[in-house]
Amino acid sequence: MQKRVLGCTGLEVSILGMGGFHFLEISAADARTILNRYLDAGGNYVETAPEYGAGESERKIGQAMASRRDEYVLATKVHLRDRDSAAQLIDQSLRHLRADHVDILFMHHVQKPTELERILSDDGALRAVEAARDAGKTRFIGISNHGHPELVLEALNHYPFDVVMSVFNYYDRFNFPVIEEELLPRLLERNIGIVGMKVIADGLLWRSAEQAFHFAWSLPIHVMVAGINTPALLEQDLAYAESFVPMPDEEMESWFAEAPELGVYICRQCDKCLPCPAGIDIPRVFETEGWYDRQMWDGVVRNPGDFWLRSSLRFWFDNQERARAAYGALVVQAPACADCGECEVRCPYRLPVTDKLRHAHYKLSGGEVLY
Ligand code: SF4
Ligand code: SF4
Repeated sequence: MQKRVLGCTGLEVSILGMGGFHFLEISAADARTILNRYLDAGGNYVETAPEYGAGESERKIGQAMASRRDEYVLATKVHLRDRDSAAQLIDQSLRHLRADHVDILFMHHVQKPTELERILSDDGALRAVEAARDAGKTRFIGISNHGHPELVLEALNHYPFDVVMSVFNYYDRFNFPVIEEELLPRLLERNIGIVGMKVIADGLLWRSAEQAFHFAWSLPIHVMVAGINTPALLEQDLAYAESFVPMPDEEMESWFAEAPELGVYICRQCDKCLPCPAGIDIPRVFETEGWYDRQMWDGVVRNPGDFWLRSSLRFWFDNQERARAAYGALVVQAPACADCGECEVRCPYRLPVTDKLRHAHYKLSGGEVLY
């Protein structure tokens, strides 16, 4: 399997990483089968977290893989925010993993300014992680977040993290364009290791998994972690890694136009609908809608499975407050639309812009359930 250097860590990692969350759904024996096959096929990046099943994922990995510990890069996470409880958590993770050290300890889903302030403080969790590094319990320190990367960008102003874990997929790139426009260049400039997650947008892109992996690996990230809970799924993901060649720009653009999950609802942030005579910054309204619910609630109920999936995923990143604050700060909001129709003629993706503006306004101005 292709390998890439994980930024300043110098670690060589396979482009397909093994995510530990989905080991909660399977037996320890099945997890062992999947992990061994993954390593035998050339995979070498395994990540987990103590929060996944209160240590269950870590325990399954430890039981299955302790004897092969020198064959893979191992990462776990710290979700507690103060030094003493974080120190205990790290020792517990090592016991569960049956390892004397991990390669990376991530500060897990740092989403709020108060959490960042807490972990950076004199008795914050980062002090425990630094002590763990000094004691040889981890080699590198990382940070992970979900959705909007504002807090990670801020964290990088305060601390020299070695590795960052963030969302990268062809769906959420239109909800959080700042990830590719600002976070990714910053990470590359500082040679920080880049671990991707949510390659199929938590399941929404399941019909287009091959394109989703190939898009993600075409970005300058180092490893894409995937949740894998059956041997068949592992073989499929290994085949995607084997067949991977970077997507040319034209292929990527045509996929953004044709992808069924983007359809005629997801704003591609191309700005071609502008200028709006009423002064509405249409792409910005739809970007804040993306922060709010990942543009998942589009007014169409396709079938019960799709309805359930979208209902489960739309608030996964918990960015609603940020979205409503950003929308509330716009000088001209959606109700200023005079229905002139110019934007719909200009939109190359045939979005029903005026209806979508009404949906976005409803969500972002206090509405909870649309249908
Ligand atoms: S239809 Fe509304 S949003 Fe579109 S250009 Fe006209 S005024 Fe602006
Ligand atoms: S033209 Fe369409 S896709 Fe492009 S920014 Fe405007 S609404 Fe979004």
